[in-house]
Amino acid sequence: MIEFSIIIPVYNEEENVSELHRRLGTVMEKLGTYEIIFVDDGSSDRSWQIIKDLHERDAGVKGLSFSRNFGHHIAITAGLDHAKGKAIILMDGDLQDPPEEIPKLCRKLKEGYELVYGIRKEKKDSILKRFASFVFWRFINSFSGINIPRNQTLLRIFDRKILDALNSMRERSRFIHGMMAWTGFKTAVQEVEHAARKRGVSKYNAVKLFRLAFNAITSFSTLPLRVATYLGLLSAGVGMFYGFYFIYKKIFLGIPVLGYASIIVAVLFVGGIQLLILGIIGEYLGRVYQEVQARPIYVLREHVF
Ligand code: UDP
Ligand code: MG
Repeated sequence: MIEFSIIIPVYNEEENVSELHRRLGTVMEKLGTYEIIFVDDGSSDRSWQIIKDLHERDAGVKGLSFSRNFGHHIAITAGLDHAKGKAIILMDGDLQDPPEEIPKLCRKLKEGYELVYGIRKEKKDSILKRFASFVFWRFINSFSGINIPRNQTLLRIFDRKILDALNSMRERSRFIHGMMAWTGFKTAVQEVEHAARKRGVSKYNAVKLFRLAFNAITSFSTLPLRVATYLGLLSAGVGMFYGFYFIYKKIFLGIPVLGYASIIVAVLFVGGIQLLILGIIGEYLGRVYQEVQARPIYVLREHVF
């Protein structure tokens, strides 16, 4: 049985794949038998051609190619579905996760943990991105009921047991960081270097990141649904208080109540809340609909194994 499966999602990384393969080879040959599974997430550059060439020269390189761009976490899923190793390593294909850090993770795993996360020391992101990330991790850790270590990179190593658990989770909206934490195995963290991107551009823009965060929150927490109850209670409370206030004014102070402004305020307030809640319910309903459709999570165009 192969000892390590290394899974690498690749989306337009033609400048990085060969160097990553070379550096991984140097590191991994000292650690044991391994396979490298590159998952081409519908790249429009030469990434897939390069992966096929690597496979010709090195039988340890395997490749899956999607029919279109399905997204980072789905690319990882496809790799997980095909991994044969006893231990699984995940890393990005842009050289931001240095292969040279893998031995540290391996050592930690041997100490008896089932999952070792690579945690980056310092983030090389803008202040805005760091703030958004802080809010997101606080929210997800407070309300999902699972503990997902912050500042984690994709670089990590874990036991086959976790692979089996992950592969049995076939939901369509996939937030791998949350899914791994959800399985609840014995985890450790290990500080790793995280390089700045040298070549190519980041494939995550603000919209994609927001969608990922939104996906993560709705997949791992039903708090937004409960917000309806809380807001309902709040607006009913405000309404009641206001009602009593008017009665008091009319009966005890003899001041007639002017209706127009208060009606408009009440209508807008309650109407707004109702639309908000409807939107949240719709969001979850949409998810249920997608699950019921039961489409495959990804579609392969080609593979080399
Ligand atoms: N990636 C992918 N599909 C996508 C977007 C990104 O497979 O739709 C890959 C990308 O090639 C890289 C990794 O996921 O190997 C991380 O993406 P990126 O470096 O753009 O994200 P960042 O590090 O900027 O958050
Ligand atoms: Mg990156």
